[in-house]
Amino acid sequence: MTDADFDFDLFVVGGGSGGARAARIAAGYGARVALAEEHRYGGTCVIRGCVPKKLMVYASSYAEMFEDARGYGWAAPEPGSIAFDWDKFRAAKDAEIARLEGIYRSGLEKAGVANHACRATVTGPHTVRLADHGQEISAKHILIATGGRPFVPEFPGSHHVITSNEVFDLAELPKRILIAGGGYIACEFACILNGLGVETTLIYRGPEILNGFDQDVRPFVRAEMEKKGVRVILSQVIDRIEKTDAGLSAALTNGETVVADTVLFATGRRPYTEGLGLETADITLAPNGAVPVDRYSQTSTPSIFAVGDVTDRLNLTPIAIREGHAFADTIFGAKPTAPDHDLAPTAVFTQPEIGTVGLTEEQARADYDVEIYRAAFRPMMHSFSGRDERMLMKLVVDKGSRRVLGVHIVGHGAGEMIQCVGVAVKMGATKEQFDQTVAVHPTAAEELVTMRTPVGAA
Ligand code: NDP
Repeated sequence: MTDADFDFDLFVVGGGSGGARAARIAAGYGARVALAEEHRYGGTCVIRGCVPKKLMVYASSYAEMFEDARGYGWAAPEPGSIAFDWDKFRAAKDAEIARLEGIYRSGLEKAGVANHACRATVTGPHTVRLADHGQEISAKHILIATGGRPFVPEFPGSHHVITSNEVFDLAELPKRILIAGGGYIACEFACILNGLGVETTLIYRGPEILNGFDQDVRPFVRAEMEKKGVRVILSQVIDRIEKTDAGLSAALTNGETVVADTVLFATGRRPYTEGLGLETADITLAPNGAVPVDRYSQTSTPSIFAVGDVTDRLNLTPIAIREGHAFADTIFGAKPTAPDHDLAPTAVFTQPEIGTVGLTEEQARADYDVEIYRAAFRPMMHSFSGRDERMLMKLVVDKGSRRVLGVHIVGHGAGEMIQCVGVAVKMGATKEQFDQTVAVHPTAAEELVTMRTPVGAA
């Protein structure tokens, strides 16, 4: 078969971060590209993830700002007199999401991509079927970029819970919420909803939240969340949920009952491959439904590739974008590119937020002789506000090479800081090069270049 025998050079299934980037870049190289999106363009990140979440983080952080302003001389409103208008916020948020979705859609159109606003399923190594008219389309290459979906474990009453898919569109804010999970989404929403005035309880099955993060970061963030009013229950799970007159009644494994108006489960996400038809192209999925790929995002069927959360590599928006771009460079730009997943900086938008890059202390100790530099302090910003909020900075350094292997920051602006310091870590900067960098004074970030004595040294 020649290229002209196919309807398209590339068919992309999924118009989220990874799929849309791949489609646009491939079209820019002159490829004939089609894309199908069954829900809304922009995918999880834009429609029901990072973007609306960050807008909610901003909304929720104002409550504290009103309070803190008083310490600086402002006659700010008293706590009982301020009110958050969820309907007004939701309308503004929905308008912004619609605007961004429009940009995604028009970006694809301008690039010459043929958009199909419907579901597509794979019917063979080179064919997909569109759900709207049942039309079969052939393509030389197929890219699977269908992302992931929230996972909720089955238990009695699990049908009463909502997930992050629904939380953005609640008809009204609950008075009380119970959140299950201790990862990114659970912790972020616990802080957001608590900030918006919702009585918030977080329940996590392990001994400390934020599994996988640095051992100093985890209890530090929990303690700050608790200070702000989030109730955290550790080492327990929800056994069953019953709907009662008082609300949703959750029975915990320790015998306690928590009653809430809404129960949000943030217990991980699973690759969205159900019913996608990949078996018709001889692709065997991983047990959790992920599409196995090599470093160029190619599956075991040479004409089919996959990028983003559906491959369950590093489930972050900027990674999906890079994977989509690298795929298009490799296949249509004659520039074989394997996406680089190493030393990806990331932020968790808890309050206070977390910025992290590189190895945790635990991970580093497994392979290196390490030095730890740590500073925990009350940022200057709170000297007048009176708020009892602390900040944490930590450097994990390889004693032999002096390279900074990991940086972990908790506090206001941690996400912004980690983006910048991530460049230095990616370049292999040493502790001495951090020290040679002049401090920016007075900032909280200056602590990153002024920590002189390792933990445990006299
Ligand atoms: P995470 O994998 O981060 O956390 C899932 C949480 O649920 C963990 O605490 C896990 O516990 C717990 N859990 C899993 N299964 C069960 C169960 N059966 N019963 C009770 N608890 C359970 O997933 P999230 O849903 O929070 O987020 C999904 C992904 O989205 C993240 O991996 C992240 O990559 C991405 N994301 C990134 C954000 C950012 O960059 N700021 C923001 C939001 C999401 P345990 O740890 O013990 O396994």
